[in-house]
Amino acid sequence: MSGSSGQCLCGAVKIQGKGAPDIGSCHCEMCRRWHGGPAVSVGFEGGIEITEGKANVGWYQSSEWAERGFCKTCGSTLFYRTLDGAYWMGETGSFDLPEGLKINRHYFIDQKPDYYDVKDDAKKLTGAEVMAMFASDGAE
Ligand SMILES: [Zn+2]
Ligand SMILES: [Zn+2]
Repeated sequence: MSGSSGQCLCGAVKIQGKGAPDIGSCHCEMCRRWHGGPAVSVGFEGGIEITEGKANVGWYQSSEWAERGFCKTCGSTLFYRTLDGAYWMGETGSFDLPEGLKINRHYFIDQKPDYYDVKDDAKKLTGAEVMAMFASDGAE
């Protein structure tokens, strides 16, 4: 299975995304606070594995259903995942991704601030549409 390797800024945490990557950008207020700006995240069809430095990953539970992972040494933003582990996204900046990839979806477009624009052709979902999508997936 193809994939992409990655790491945090200091290299203490090494990760592997398995299979084809799928990039999405989230504009919700929580993601913007966590990232310091809009999130451009990546999921992989075969999931993500922490291959080195698992103990160096700190987890912050950001909602009743999800937590966010970061490197305890350099503070790099690394992961967003549901508590049941069914949905696990990494960050595009962490991975050595192949050239030519594009953002496939924008989430919470209705929470996007005015100071940047989104002008690509990717699908744009409002917060309500995102919640409906997760509800139909069986995730909470
Ligand atoms: Zn680090
Ligand atoms: Zn978000």
